[in-house]
Amino acid sequence: MTPDAFTTLDQKDPLRAFRQYFDLPADVVYLDGNSLGALPKATPARVREVVEEEWGQQLIRSWNTRGWIDLQRRIGDKIGRIIGAEPGETLVADSTSVNLFKLLAGAVKLRPGRTRIISEIGNFPTDLYIAQGLAALLGDGIEVIAVKPEDVESVLDERVAVLMLTHVNYGTGAMYDMAQITERAHDVGALMLWDLAHSAGAVPVELNAAGADLAVGCGYKYLNGGPGAPAFLYVAERHQAQLQPAISGWFGHAAPFAFEGDYRPAGDIMRLAVGTPPVISLAALEIGVDLMLDAPISAIRDKSIRQTELFIELVDQEIPELRGSLASPSDPLRRGSQVCLRHPDAWPIMQALIARGVIGDFRAPDILRFGFTPLYVGYADIWKAVRILRHIMVTGEWRQDAYQAKSKVT
Ligand SMILES: *Cc1c(COP(=O)(O)O)cnc(C)c1O
Repeated sequence: MTPDAFTTLDQKDPLRAFRQYFDLPADVVYLDGNSLGALPKATPARVREVVEEEWGQQLIRSWNTRGWIDLQRRIGDKIGRIIGAEPGETLVADSTSVNLFKLLAGAVKLRPGRTRIISEIGNFPTDLYIAQGLAALLGDGIEVIAVKPEDVESVLDERVAVLMLTHVNYGTGAMYDMAQITERAHDVGALMLWDLAHSAGAVPVELNAAGADLAVGCGYKYLNGGPGAPAFLYVAERHQAQLQPAISGWFGHAAPFAFEGDYRPAGDIMRLAVGTPPVISLAALEIGVDLMLDAPISAIRDKSIRQTELFIELVDQEIPELRGSLASPSDPLRRGSQVCLRHPDAWPIMQALIARGVIGDFRAPDILRFGFTPLYVGYADIWKAVRILRHIMVTGEWRQDAYQAKSKVT
């Protein structure tokens, strides 16, 4: 493989035009859009407009005149189109962690008599922490059981209230067959909750076609909503009237502005709303989601598979020391949009890479993680990233003292 081949791939790339909609530093190869998506060029102007005009000039009138009150649903419905949901099934709210709490609590209540929440060892920690905290709060013998991915099906039985899995694993990129696992959960009468943090905007997701019950996901990863962007949740239409809101705030009330003394949940997805949403952050998120809606997910997936395959192949060809270090599934159909390599010195290697403008991230204890976001990562970027990684490995540059110290955020 030669650099020219990568330039040619860029020229023929049907998604090539999207890169110009993002504001990326010229000297950076950004392979971390799965942790924090890039800044869309339209976002600063939109945020400025919301702050200066909608807030500054229109003041409180904007709740009605600028539709602030409908933002959570409106953007939720847009995200719904990305994850295979019908209008009215997706809501933007809170953080992924809080949404997990709300939906898990609701799910356990929907399956009275069942005591088990099943998940996976190696799931993103907050998913497990939230489940553990909920179980401790509920008491009543509710327990969280986390097993290896290959053992998930074998622990499904009539004791299981809900199976909670992350569709694409954050640490390895391994992807579940959503329809198949959902069916297994339903076979024993359990509910299926999917975490789409590394899926929404990265791989095709068809929640309704898969028969999923519940889902959550992030706004700041592949949806490019900005740091701490509001998250989303999905509740299949058939469950909405029964799902009991665990955090019964006024935004989830049937009539928030009737100011009644007693809680009455809204009849629809709004019952999962809690309090006043962050309007400025919602406006930023909508720009990222709109960009995503303009790009066919099939084209995103095609390019993502091509890019991850090329990256793996090139690492293998160019960097003997990293041969055989692949921690992600080698079958692209079983992999999300990231490639993870395993190396005992992953931390200093990643710091040395970042110092040279190739931004990926480190995941404890020994993972070098590279996310591929087809809207703004080009093929030439992949060539450049592997050349720089090769340089760092061959020269041992990562051994320098400057790269050894751990940071607060990794
Ligand atoms: C990123 C991520 C989260 C993040 O949760 P926050 O509440 O936004 O901090 C949760 N779950 C998974 C699987 C993730 O990848």
